[in-house]
Amino acid sequence: MAIKIAVAGAKGRMGGQVVKSILEDDNMELITGFDPSGVGEEIAPGIKISSPDEMDKVLKEVKPDVFVDFTNATAAVENVKVASRNKVKLVVGTTGFSEEQLEEMENAIKNHVPAIISPNFSIGVNIFWKLIAEAARHLQAYQYHVEIIEMHHSHKKDAPSGTAVKAAEIISNRLTKGEKKFVYGRHGITGERTDEEIGIHAVRAGDIVGDHTVLYAGIGERLEITHRAHSREAFAQGVIKAIEWIKGKDEARIYSMDEMMRELEHGG
Ligand code: NAP
Repeated sequence: MAIKIAVAGAKGRMGGQVVKSILEDDNMELITGFDPSGVGEEIAPGIKISSPDEMDKVLKEVKPDVFVDFTNATAAVENVKVASRNKVKLVVGTTGFSEEQLEEMENAIKNHVPAIISPNFSIGVNIFWKLIAEAARHLQAYQYHVEIIEMHHSHKKDAPSGTAVKAAEIISNRLTKGEKKFVYGRHGITGERTDEEIGIHAVRAGDIVGDHTVLYAGIGERLEITHRAHSREAFAQGVIKAIEWIKGKDEARIYSMDEMMRELEHGG
């Protein structure tokens, strides 16, 4: 039987791509979309966009198996609460959450529904996170400086990207058990760079889908590990895998892409 899916942010860049990928997949059925833009518009034959204000009522009527969220941090926290209350499994790709917002979502999910949350659903980026940790593990003995550079389109609302923040956390945990100091961009008389810094730089320009580079620089050389997304299909294909995977989970907690990929890679 096809998996019944609701998409929040259905008119947005990512939500729109996810809608397209769901419609192309015979094992999935889009049953509703939510977005304050374009309420009442058809996104698929017979499927109209509903207002987020109607979410609770609509979810009770159409009973999706999985709720996908690509909105913004404030909206996503509320959407997660409504979906969890209605026992709809979750795939959350929205980024830019504060610590408090992450805690609010965790409280809404724990003991209520299985959920997978990731700041990046591309398979390549999830492997990039493993590679940068491995490089950091090797380089920690040699005092290499680490800088992270991310580039995105001009419409992106949060900076630095969730992917860059996660990269910084991974490297910080690997190098110093969390004691590295994050420096966001540099400006003015900054003084000499210290070994404890991880520089994080956000570029916003044109229609760049998403580039991330971690640069490890020593004396006379540098190593760069880069991921470039060519199109939003990279994220949407990961979302499709996550929808199928979370549908099969029963334990009500937050799962990671890493857990999903380990299972898929080992045939579990
Ligand atoms: P976008 O084009 O601005 O789309 C977001 C959409 O959500 C907009 O149409 C917005 O409507 C709508 N929205 C706002 N509040 C809502 C609510 N309460 N319920 C339902 N829809 C609501 O942004 P985007 O580029 O698609 O990115 C969306 C999020 O996904 C961002 O946080 C981005 O960083 C993240 N992202 C994650 C991944 C990943 O793999 N995890 C990949 C790419 C992007 P209005 O414009 O009218 O407010």
